[in-house]
Amino acid sequence: MSQQLPDSIPPDLFAARADAIADAARELALAGWTPATSSNFSMRVDGGHAAITISGRDKGKLSRDDIMLVDMQGHAVGTDARPSAETALHTQVYRHWPEAQAVLHTHSRTQSVASRLYAQAGVVRLQGWELQKAITGHTTHESVLEIPVFPNTQHMPELVARVDAWLDAGKPLAAYLIDGHGIYTWGRDMAEARRHLEALEFLLGCELDLRRLSA
Ligand SMILES: [Zn+2]
Repeated sequence: MSQQLPDSIPPDLFAARADAIADAARELALAGWTPATSSNFSMRVDGGHAAITISGRDKGKLSRDDIMLVDMQGHAVGTDARPSAETALHTQVYRHWPEAQAVLHTHSRTQSVASRLYAQAGVVRLQGWELQKAITGHTTHESVLEIPVFPNTQHMPELVARVDAWLDAGKPLAAYLIDGHGIYTWGRDMAEARRHLEALEFLLGCELDLRRLSA
């Protein structure tokens, strides 16, 4: 399946994005955060397009050919390939934050367990952790970093609406969990998105340890 690019997108640009996604996916798969072909990754290509992982591929073995182009409504552009089922959650981030360049979604064990444990509360409230400062905009461990937990559904418009409702309420959003499923986070480039993901994985792991040890 080959990717045809619109004239407005230089092939080198798409290739660079595809390579960056494949590299990140391989490393995150190695960490064990993308079991059984789950998880999906994307990067903005321009104002109207993003590059995203094709559905169902082993994230530990991705190459450039496993990445496809979508428009900001999540429709395939120039290919018959099927984008990740959760593409709408990626394009929502790009539409809402013009500065967002990369979106990462993984299903690690820590993320999955934390999402179940905090589903009823609807939020993980992080405070007092030095590593909160790894999240852009958080300059001190004293601030509260809220990670909402949304109910899981296979119906993406429902999840998109829940994210919108959180944002419409004026609450900051750096990442969110989906119950029994995994995490979404993003950044102004791949490095920032990776830093957010790694910090959140660490912080959620610490919260789980605290729950376990103080039971
Ligand atoms: Zn998922």
